[in-house]
Amino acid sequence: MNDCIFCKIISGDIPSYTVYEDDVVKAFLDISQTTPGHTLVIPKKHVPNIYEYDSEFASQVFARIPKIARAIRKFSPDIKGMNIVNNNGELAYQSVFHSHFHLIPRYTKDDGFSMHFTDNSSKYDNAKYESIAHAIKEQMEES
Ligand code: 5GP
Ligand code: ZN
Repeated sequence: MNDCIFCKIISGDIPSYTVYEDDVVKAFLDISQTTPGHTLVIPKKHVPNIYEYDSEFASQVFARIPKIARAIRKFSPDIKGMNIVNNNGELAYQSVFHSHFHLIPRYTKDDGFSMHFTDNSSKYDNAKYESIAHAIKEQMEES
């Protein structure tokens, strides 16, 4: 992928502050440092988004995340939590189309990162939940 900045980071054409690397993934500091230690974990194989992972590839990539998360947590006693975020599609705030996971250590409620989950449960009844769950289930692949 010639124009992919994360492929260029993997090849070394663009420098990065690497925190972990093996044959499957590379983890490096996000340039934005939303909070100190904000790290991106990317597969070395170019895939644009989560939909392109098969289960074997997903197992390999996801298997690396907990130990990277633990290393980040241990780097500062001020880290009280961690958000792991994976954006897919421009609407969902994906800006680099090489799949990646943000590991964002959390220090305080106003440390620079926030996420909002609207609670719409008052607008839902049993039938509406059932119908959405059923429609998704119908689309599920076999394995
Ligand atoms: P997204 O918005 O796609 O979920 O996240 C892309 C992330 O990549 C952003 O947080 C942005 O700061 C980071 N980023 C973009 N370009 C570079 C770069 O050249 N180097 C590093 N280390 N991070 C980058
Ligand atoms: Zn790429």
